[in-house]
Formats: sequence, structure tokens, C-alpha cells
Amino acid sequence: MTMSAAPHRVTVIGGGFGGLEAAKHLAAAPVEVTLIDRRNFHLFQPLTYQVATGALSPAEVCYPLRAIFKGRPNVRVVMATVEAVDLEERKLRLQPSAEGGEAFDLGYDTLVVAAGSAYSYFGHEEWRQVAPEVKSLESALELRARLLGAFEAAELEADAERRCALLTFVVVGGGPTGVEMAGQIAELARDTLSDEFRTIDPGEARVLLVEMADRVLTTFPPSLSRKAKSQLEHLGVTPMLGHTVVGIDAESVTVEGGVEAARRIPAHNVIWAAGVTASALGGALAEQCGGEVDKAGRILVEPDLTLPGNPGVFAIGDMIRVRRPGGEAQALPGVAPVAMQQGRYAAKAVRARLEGRSVSPFHYLDKGNLATIGRARAVADLHLVRLSGFPAWLTWLFVHLWYLIGFQNRLLVFVRWSFSFLTRGRGARVIAEGGEERESGRAA
Ligand SMILES: Cc1cc2nc3c(=O)[nH]c(=O)nc-3n(C[C@H](O)[C@H](O)[C@H](O)COP(=O)(O)OP(=O)(O)OC[C@H]3O[C@@H](n4cnc5c(N)ncnc54)[C@H](O)[C@@H]3O)c2cc1C
Repeated sequence: MTMSAAPHRVTVIGGGFGGLEAAKHLAAAPVEVTLIDRRNFHLFQPLTYQVATGALSPAEVCYPLRAIFKGRPNVRVVMATVEAVDLEERKLRLQPSAEGGEAFDLGYDTLVVAAGSAYSYFGHEEWRQVAPEVKSLESALELRARLLGAFEAAELEADAERRCALLTFVVVGGGPTGVEMAGQIAELARDTLSDEFRTIDPGEARVLLVEMADRVLTTFPPSLSRKAKSQLEHLGVTPMLGHTVVGIDAESVTVEGGVEAARRIPAHNVIWAAGVTASALGGALAEQCGGEVDKAGRILVEPDLTLPGNPGVFAIGDMIRVRRPGGEAQALPGVAPVAMQQGRYAAKAVRARLEGRSVSPFHYLDKGNLATIGRARAVADLHLVRLSGFPAWLTWLFVHLWYLIGFQNRLLVFVRWSFSFLTRGRGARVIAEGGEERESGRAA
């Protein structure tokens, strides 16, 4: 990295947890920052499932990127998709997100790539159509329309078998997202919607949680997995542990497990919360720098988070594994704190280099693991202490409020959660055409 008269140009790809943190920590540095994202907002992914189940409105989990950098003239926000990176020429190919925009090239001096990950359907791309996930705002809105629409369709369905299939919800994947999703659907059916329908009892909805492993939340200690399972059962969720999904279509899911032969479960609602795969940009970068990519598409970066042989290019967050100083690869959990700490580290490293200093290798400070299951139900592994039930839920609640961006969003979410806690209501139960948000008011 060399100092020149013109300001050093740092380009950050991705306004998610990692990229946003990098840009924020460079905003006060003597550099010119360009933050590129295909969307105009930062999405708080840990709460998208609450949008999908009508507990929160989209605007409460999103924050406009431009508003974050309003008073920072050295940070420029560009709404575009990065289609290609040319490491040799140090330039990016961008396609503006706004309709009609023409592709253009953008040069950089230092690059921070934080393009995240997407859900992987394990080679069954055809399942994506029938089993939506909740990683993007668009898919959360589509899922919300499908979930609420299923109850509406069941209310009008005369055939008992079809009604049962309409009211069967299968969540695939027993990690934190799957557990949270299953718990929320059960609460929606049993609490929020009770007494609202005339021919069906929403409380009779079946919620199945299919997990390949023999316990849910495999990244938690086994004692907390057991507690999570019993809290799920208490809510009316049926965990199907040791089961694998082998088929999904618009009307059913086929599962295999243990000594059982494959079983077809009539179900009109399947929610995908299984494995993730890193952004394709990781693979494209690896090809250019001769880097390694693992099965989940994550590129292996150096201990200082730079690409092999490219000290001016950092990659952070869900899309990487880190080489330890000893040489072996370390796969850190795909969670927001990892991406945020790496974003801060990359910013610190850029600043240090400009001042002619070096930084020690990246080290992840693991403060623990949280998963919520429902109202006053959660588990928390804080290393020194393990919590479940109400204390874990309170911890989860305050940690999420703390990390949400924007005072207004924090306040709104706090009010909504307090209201839901007291009334079991959900304020954003809107079925909008094409998954678009068309709320003119709030449905109670
Ligand atoms: C449903 C769900 C629940 C979760 N719950 C939790 C939780 O409770 N706690 C927790 O710690 N973690 C949770 N996570 C994980 C956490 O959200 C991720 O680990 C974190 O978002 C990773 O940050 P990142 O910066 O790597 O990627 P992201 O936050 O995904 O950001 C990537 C950004 O890059 C942009 N982008 C991608 N490709 C391009 C491109 N080619 N051009 C332009 N822009 C691009 C995207 O639009 C996005 O804004 C959850 C994830 C999901 C999906």
C-alpha cells in the first residue's frame, strides 16, 4: 500500500454486518470510502424471521445505508451489484441496481469484500421455489404471505385432508433460524390467530422441525439442546431429529430417518433453514489468486484476513475461513459478531498500514451463543453461565435491541415486543401481492 497525494481509495463490497462495520470504522480516517451494496439498506438478518411471521414490519429490521453515512462526506454509497473483481487491474465491474443503469468500472487501492452467503439447497435448486428461506427481506415477505395465506386457504377448504395439509408447516434445519422459525409459527397459530377464524382452529396446525442430527442447535452444549427441544415441544412443535428431507414439492415433503422407509408428509408449507453457501464472489476471487475454497464456498484467507498474495484485498464475514498463524484453517461460526469484528479489524489494519504500522493477526473474541424459541423461551450459552427460559430470552432481547441500527428502530421494536409479550398479538400481519410491502396502516 503506498501513500500518494490523492486520498487512498478503500472500496467495501457489502453493507451487511461486516462491510458496514468496516465502512463505519474507516469513516473518520483520511481515506475515501466507497460502500457498494445491491440494496439501499442494511438488513438485520437475525430478525427477518420475525418479519416472515408478522411480528415485525420490514422497515423495523432495515436501515438506509445513506442515512448511516449522512454526515460523512468521505463515504460514498453506491447501489449496484458487483459482477466481477479484477485483482490484477484493481478494479470492479458494477451493474447499477436502478433500472436502466449501465454497467461501469470502478478502481480501488484497498478492497474489503463482505458479500456474505446465501442458503444452499444441497444441489436441489428446484426446492427453492416451494421451500422459501428467510435470508433476504424479499423472501421473508414472500414467506409471510404464504404462511398467512395458508390459514386463509384452510378456512375456505371443505376437504379435510387438504385442510390438514394446508395447516402443516415443515421447517427444514434445526439450527438457530429453524428453531426460531418453528417456535414463531407455533405461537402464531396457537396464540395470535386463536378465535379469529370460524371454520378452522388455527391451534390445530402441525409444526414439524426436521433435523438430520440427533439434537437441535448442534452448536450449543447438549444440555441446552435438550432444553430447547423441550421448550419447542411445549409450544406444540414436533422435532423430527435424525431425519433427512429427500423430496419437496408444492404439496408434500418426503423424509427419511433411522430404520423408517421414506415417508411422504402432505404439507403445503415448507420453510428452508438448512445449510448456507458463501457468496460466489469468494470462488471468483479464489480463482484469480489461487486460493482454496471449501465445500461451503468459503475462501481461505491469511491470518490478517487478506487474500493470498493480495495484501490490499481483505475478505470478511460469512464468505471466509481464516488461516491460523500455525497454518491450519479455522472455520468461525457464520454469525454477525464474527463479521463485525472482522470488519473492525480490516478498518484498523487499513489505518495502521497508512500510518506505517503493522497489526497482529485477527483473533475472534467469542462472547457466546443465543437462540430464542418463543415468548419468554430461549437458550443462552455465555460460556461461564448457561441460561434457558425467561432469563435467556431477556438476554437475547437486549442483545438484539443493542445491535439493531438506529434509535427509532430500537424503540419501535421494543414497543412491538412489549406489546406482543402482553397481548400475544403481531402487528404486521399483512398479505401483500408479490411479497411487496404495501402497508398503509398496521394490522393488529
Ligand atoms: C435468518 C437468519 C437469522 C440469523 N440469526 C442470527 C443471530 O441470531 N445471531 C447472529 O449473530 N447471526 C445470525 N445470522 C447470521 C448473520 O446474519 C450473518 O452471519 C451475517 O449477516 C454475516 O455478515 P456478512 O457481512 O458476512 O454478510 P451479510 O450481512 O449477509 O451482508 C452481505 C451484504 O452484501 C451484499 N452483497 C452480496 N453480494 C453482493 C454483490 N455482488 N454486489 C453488491 N452487494 C452484494 C448483500 O446485499 C448484503 O447486504 C442469521 C442469519 C440469517 C439468514
